[in-house]
This record gives sequence, structure tokens and C-alpha cells, in this order.
Amino acid sequence: QGNMLFLRSFVILFLSCMTIKTNLCFPSLLSSLKTLPIDGHFDFEQVRHAAKDFGNRYSFLPLAVLHPKSVSDIASTVKHVWLMGPGSELTVAARGHGHSLQGQAQAPAGVVINMESLQGLGMQFHTGNFPYVDVSGGELWINILRQSLKHGVAPKSWTDYLHLTVGGTLSNAGISGQAFRHGPQISNVHQLEVVTGKGEVVNCSEKQNSDLFYSVLGGLGQFGIITRARISLEPAPEMVKWIRVLYTDFATFAKDQEKLISGESMFDYIEGFVIINRTGLLNNWRSSFNPQDPVQASKFKSDGRTLYCLELAKYFNRDETAGVNRGIKSSLSQLNHVPSTLFLAEVPYIEFLDRVHISEIKLRSKGLWEVPHPWLNLLIPRSKIQIFAQHVFGNILTDTSNGPVLIYPVNKSKWDNRTSVVIPEEDVFYLVAFLSSAVPSSTGTDGLDHILIQNKRILEFCEIACLGIKQYLPHYSTQREWKAHFGSRWEVFARRKSSYDPLAMLAPGQRIFQKAI
Ligand code: FAD
Repeated sequence: QGNMLFLRSFVILFLSCMTIKTNLCFPSLLSSLKTLPIDGHFDFEQVRHAAKDFGNRYSFLPLAVLHPKSVSDIASTVKHVWLMGPGSELTVAARGHGHSLQGQAQAPAGVVINMESLQGLGMQFHTGNFPYVDVSGGELWINILRQSLKHGVAPKSWTDYLHLTVGGTLSNAGISGQAFRHGPQISNVHQLEVVTGKGEVVNCSEKQNSDLFYSVLGGLGQFGIITRARISLEPAPEMVKWIRVLYTDFATFAKDQEKLISGESMFDYIEGFVIINRTGLLNNWRSSFNPQDPVQASKFKSDGRTLYCLELAKYFNRDETAGVNRGIKSSLSQLNHVPSTLFLAEVPYIEFLDRVHISEIKLRSKGLWEVPHPWLNLLIPRSKIQIFAQHVFGNILTDTSNGPVLIYPVNKSKWDNRTSVVIPEEDVFYLVAFLSSAVPSSTGTDGLDHILIQNKRILEFCEIACLGIKQYLPHYSTQREWKAHFGSRWEVFARRKSSYDPLAMLAPGQRIFQKAI
């Protein structure tokens, strides 16, 4: 613990010195940015918010924050920094909603571009047989949902939480319970407009500048700034049947999940989570889920056992209710959950998709939202999920989980291997998300250090047992680790970097490349 504290203080001191050094050595940087003719504006004073993110663990002050009003504001700024050449230390980070975990959207002593300022550019809907919408890269998914519903359509693939930007999730993948059928969000984009690391504005798609298109999708912000995206849509349902059933045995739970994601599942959303050491009645769910409890289910006692909850959703319109009820009954009868544990709720579509926001409001009111979030997200091959679950839920996370632990499989066939994201080498792999919150300054099992040690133990086990996992929302400190993460795809990733951001000025907070100086 002493070492970690020392390291943290050292990093903070180092970065403070970097900020001072940059200001002293490059006073002309500030004035040169000030003279750029742009529609929006630079802020050199109010920059603290750009040094904050959801992870609440890393904080690097930028030199300036750009609030762009147009794509050309972004292009001019990036080109300006590009033209300074390798002699300048200045870097540029696009900041979406700042919901990164380890400073990925920050630019120490650099320029942060507040992408949400671009939202004013509006959304353009195209309905018809293949509906889509053109949106700004700084648009929040919740806004896209609200606007789409006015046209009777909606995007197909989501994240569990919608107060994230298009550019932010497309730079990772964007995974939720619809991914088994539609793939992640990066599989549901037709076209992008991107500002490269040379300040060029380029349109790209599968047919046009396809290498840039696939580089940027899942590209961790390394190859360009997404200023516009064309998102595929489908007809939107009115309502959702939201179902949870419980298992006491992981193997049975996983078998049912895999059965549901293969072939023609009637469900539109399939996820699951682990319930660790909860006692008493299971009617106190962590989210907005308010089941119309059948009496038996609300009497089910977890009694501290580790349980596995399968979560399903079926979309429907009100005039289809009777048929949908019959279909659900028949599908559920083929599953092997504990029979008395069927929890069911019926909610409007928007309420289902925006469900995590309800938890956010509750947590904010208790001061529990803006706390450190030492999250760990892993992609695990199907053949290794049993051994993973056995060890992690049997030996490491036995007392408490400090937050939700999600676990669900997806089909690799729905992912495009031309994108930059790295996934395991099997037809089916699981997303396992340890979404921990730490109690500030606690030294107990709910404190940051304890959770970080647990995360480390999980990663060490994966390494020793050679599980072939990949981190999602990856975080590494050295290029050696990044090379191991990308494996055989590192060369392509590095080649793409030298093509589109040769000075390595973009998204320095990912710590993959160092700007050449
Ligand atoms: P930021 O944190 O602002 O940026 C992330 C990275 O992308 C940075 O490197 C940044 O420089 C870069 N970037 C941002 N905008 C652009 C752009 N326009 N062009 C190029 N690069 C850009 N993820 C899932 O897949 N599924 C989930 O269900 C899910 N649930 C979540 C729930 C919560 C409560 C939170 C906090 C996060 C969740 N995430 C989930 C993770 C989330 O998708 C990522 O953290 C995402 O990066 C956040 O988007 P953002 O707009 O806040 O991006």
C-alpha cells in the first residue's frame, strides 16, 4: 500500500511539473491556439472538469479545452497541433461524456476537445426499408433514442447505460444484451466522418476509405476523431417483457445462456449477473427492476449462496401481448432455472433501455456515484468460462462483489475482424464485467486497494491458467503489455497509427503510443 501511495504521489507530481514545463516552455502554444479562427472557443481557465472521469482515479490537467461549434473547429485545431511537428509535446484528446475509467479521455498538458459541444449539428433521420440516422460523434445515445422514437425507430445495439457518446462507445465496441444477435455497436455503423491526426476531414465506410473506417471502430481514439456517424436503425417496439430467473449452479446457467444465444432465440436481449452472498428475500434488486412478484419468487431466500441470474427481454407491441405471453411461457419451460424463481416486469421500451440511469439518480442522491470505480471487464472464451467461474466465484469473490458482476455470452460471427477491437479466438465468448464501486478512504473490503488487489488476483489467475482472455475497455501502462493485448494484430494497429496519426498526438490517455518529440 505504501508503494502504491508513493507511486500515485509521484505520478501527480510528475504531471504537475509537466503542466508547468509546458506552460513555461511553450508560452506561444497558448497564444497560437488563441489566434485560431474558430466558430467555437477555447477555455484556458475552466479545465478541471476535463481532468475528471467516471473512474475517479486518474486526473491530468489539460492546457486548454476546445468547445467546438463545427467540424472545421476540430480539424483546424488538430491540423494546428500537427503542423507544430514533433518538437511540441502538445497532444489532443476527444472527450465524449468522460465515462472512461483510467484517464483515457484526458490529455495531460494537452488540448481536450469537448465533443458534446458538437451536438448542435443535429440528427438526420432516413426512414424506409433500411432506416438509419446521421448523428454527431458527441451525441449521447439517450438523445438518439428519444429522437428516434419520434420516428418509430431505434438503434439495434446498445450499451447498458445510455448517457455515453457515440464517439466514446464506437471507440471501444458498445456491448449489451442485444449483441448476441446484432453484434456490438461497431457492427451497426454504416459510415463515419473522421478528423485524422493530420487534421484532414475524411468520410469513410466499408466501400470508401475502408481501412480508416475499420481502424477507427474499436480504435480507442488512436486514429482519428469521429465527428459524425451513420447508425443503423430498426422499428422500435412499444413495450418490453423483462424477465429474471435464478440458478444455483453456474454450469446450468451458462448452458441455458448459450442455448438462448444460438439459433433463433425469441428474446431480444440476453444478459446475466452473479449474486454473491446476499441473504434474505430476493426482492431488493439493484436497479429499476420492479417485478410483479409471483408470491413464490418473492419468498425465495438466497441465504448467502452464490446465485446466477439470467436476464432476458422480449420486445413487443401491445396488440401482440397474448402471442408473446404464450411464446415466453413456452421458451421458459425449456430452461433449467430454479422453477420458483421467475421474476417478471413489463415496462415501456425507453424505460428498459434507460434502466441504469434510474440507478444513477438513486446513487447520486446518496453521494455514491462520484466515487472511485475500479472496473474490470474481460472477454473470456467459452471453453474457459467454467474454470474461470469456478475459481473466481469459488475462491476470489466469495464475500461480496462491491457492485454488479455481469456475465453473458455473445456470438463472434457478429463481430467484424477488420475493426481494431481485439476479441478471443472462439465462436462464442463471454463478457464478464466486475463493476465495482469503492468507498472513498475505506481500508476495508469495500476500499479501493482491496478491490484493486482482487482485480489483480483475477487477472493473474487468467494468466497462469492460460485462459486466452482479452480485456474490454483495456488498460495497460507499457507498450509491451499493449503488444501482448493485440497479439498478432499489433502490427496492423501500429501501421494504422503511423498512417493516420503519425505524430501520435491523439488520445494520449490510452497510453499506447508516446508522441514523438
Ligand atoms: P469518453 O470516456 O469521453 O472517451 C473514451 C475514449 O474514446 C477516449 O480515449 C476518448 O479520447 C475517445 N473518444 C471519445 N470521443 C471520441 C470521438 N468522437 N472520436 C474518437 N475518439 C473519441 N460499455 C459497453 O460497451 N457496454 C456497456 O453496457 C457499458 N456500460 C457502461 C455503464 C456505465 C455507468 C459507464 C460509466 C460506462 C459503461 N460502458 C459500457 C463503458 C463505455 O462504453 C466507455 O467508457 C465509453 O468510452 C464511454 O463513452 P464516453 O462518451 O464517456 O467516452
